Amino acid sequence: MSQYPNSAAGGCLCGAVRYQATAEPDFVAYCHCTSCRKATGAPVAVYATYAEKDVQFTKRKRSVFASSPGVSRTFCGDCGTPISYEAEWNGDIVIGFFISTLDEPDNFPPQKHVAHGDRISWFDAADELPRFLGFPGAVQKPDRVGPE
Ligand SMILES: [Zn+2]
Ligand SMILES: [Zn+2]
Repeated sequence: MSQYPNSAAGGCLCGAVRYQATAEPDFVAYCHCTSCRKATGAPVAVYATYAEKDVQFTKRKRSVFASSPGVSRTFCGDCGTPISYEAEWNGDIVIGFFISTLDEPDNFPPQKHVAHGDRISWFDAADELPRFLGFPGAVQKPDRVGPE
């Protein structure tokens, strides 16, 4: 799959935290889970997920909040911008950057909706992407395609 650019850069609102990724993201998804919504303050989060080895933080280190066992949510300690969701996945650390922290989010359209079962009842998107009520595992059969 070469849908996405093989490099990306981004950062927070004030510029204190900057990062670079030197690969394509593994995937880009809408996440409707309660934890992402709380962490971002938005009705839905979108993140581009990378392997930790493909990511470098090029300015100050982000601040970290451990939101649940094995899961960290990071943000800029100066301006408060939510930066990433970070978790262990199959023995590796994956870093999902919230899409609007990317300098060029237009290049990273989402492929799917996850945790669609947690979404705010009045919110849906008008796209025809697959929707997973939870988090898809190895078998990626969507619960629905397109809005209700
Ligand atoms: Zn900042
Ligand atoms: Zn989430």
